[in-house]
Amino acid sequence: MERLLFVASEAYPLIKTGGLADVAGSLPEVLRQQGMDVRLLLPAYQQVLETIAPPTLVAELDVHGTPLRILGTTLPGTALQTWLLDHPLFTGRPGNPYLDTHGQPWPDNAERFLLLCRLAAAIAVGEAGLDWIPDILHCNDWHTGPAIALTHLHHPRPRTVFTVHSLAHMGLFDRATFERLQLPEDFWHEDAMEFYNQVSFIKGGLVYADCITTVSPNYAREICESPGGMGLEGLLRQRRKHLTGILNGIDSAVWNPAMDPHLAKRYSARSLGDKVRNKRALQARLGLAEGNERPLLGLVGRLVAQKGLELILPVLDEILALPVQLAVLGTGESHYEQLLQARAAANPDTMAVVLAYDENLAHGIEAGADIFLMPSLFEPCGLNQLYSLRYGTLPLVRAVGGLADTVVDSNPQTLADGTATGFVFEQPDAAELLAALRRATALWYDQKQWRQVQRNAMRQDFSWQHSANLYHQLYISPLKT
Ligand code: ADP
Repeated sequence: MERLLFVASEAYPLIKTGGLADVAGSLPEVLRQQGMDVRLLLPAYQQVLETIAPPTLVAELDVHGTPLRILGTTLPGTALQTWLLDHPLFTGRPGNPYLDTHGQPWPDNAERFLLLCRLAAAIAVGEAGLDWIPDILHCNDWHTGPAIALTHLHHPRPRTVFTVHSLAHMGLFDRATFERLQLPEDFWHEDAMEFYNQVSFIKGGLVYADCITTVSPNYAREICESPGGMGLEGLLRQRRKHLTGILNGIDSAVWNPAMDPHLAKRYSARSLGDKVRNKRALQARLGLAEGNERPLLGLVGRLVAQKGLELILPVLDEILALPVQLAVLGTGESHYEQLLQARAAANPDTMAVVLAYDENLAHGIEAGADIFLMPSLFEPCGLNQLYSLRYGTLPLVRAVGGLADTVVDSNPQTLADGTATGFVFEQPDAAELLAALRRATALWYDQKQWRQVQRNAMRQDFSWQHSANLYHQLYISPLKT
């Protein structure tokens, strides 16, 4: 039985700020169910310790001069053995794993996540004093990049896999921090972890890993070019042979309209007539005018430029002048929050904004909306459009990253051949977004066609089984030289 150590900075449902947590909370468990011997390694954030039953003590050890403990628990709702790095750098911090209460990165994030990396590498090469040594070390995003670099200093070592969920965060720190971290001096080199006179944690994974993956095939292509590569395209092109795109799955137990406990009325592709009950419940909850005379647009996500706010805001008046309603749930940059809130206050019947992180309402919007807006500027995979497909809430997306891989535009041909699942526009241009929205709205009034596209969308299979098989292949197939 192959042993897998899966390392991440967040995992649903213990701690979540974005899609990474959804992946770390699903993929390792599916791999376990498929027969691997898996350990998930996470920091023991204060919030995590507050939500779990008392953990066991797995080990007490000293890593690069730092005493720490590994606590054992299982990921709630699963049988996945989860190890928590117990140290005051994590246990002593309330709230967000990366940011302080002012929304600023914790000043010692480099030290914090390097400690996670040093522990992961120690476990990986058998220096943690455990009787469990992995065959595969799988790390995720910048927080865990140096774990791969450090593991590669040893022989023998496990196979290493590094997944890029987003290149936008590279874990960049200055030279003084690099010196404080006491990483090997060799790492300060452009062929290693140096990036324009800073140390880049993500490069630890990108340069050294045996296999690199990204969370969609299209994003794997985009990051080998500018601007998607954000300055790392040269390195990624060099490593092209070792780079694969594997689409994220979704947790199909949590995101299933037929079983979802958050919904006013559960429904399936066979009982789509019941979906409207969720629309009415959502309208009532948000104070929108109630009725089913016009489509309801939903948007859930971080309110940041990446998610396409710069495309929505310039045409928001035109959008609200269409026969639509708009429900927004998210938190993010305060100027976006304020602009959206002001428009909602001026249009209470047609637009509602909830500035919060609210799982229950996110499910309510996925079920209650007719169209899901996701006009991202870039999107490594995107989960919300996958949830939307499953809920028969047709996604309207820009043709970028994983969105282009997962949504098929509705046009005469795709409508005729039964492949249409949503609405896609090409350029990051507000007028294109508006045109796509007009097409979507027009199709909504043709309820017979709409139902057909909803059924096409709901038939898509984005469960983890398929993607987990692809990861498993990567773990065991011969390495490319
Ligand atoms: P990203 O990882 O870039 O934030 P994804 O679409 O991949 O975007 O994943 C976002 C995840 O976070 C989804 O599960 C989404 O439902 C959830 N989410 C984002 N914002 C909120 C919010 N305000 N309330 C509830 N869930 C949210």
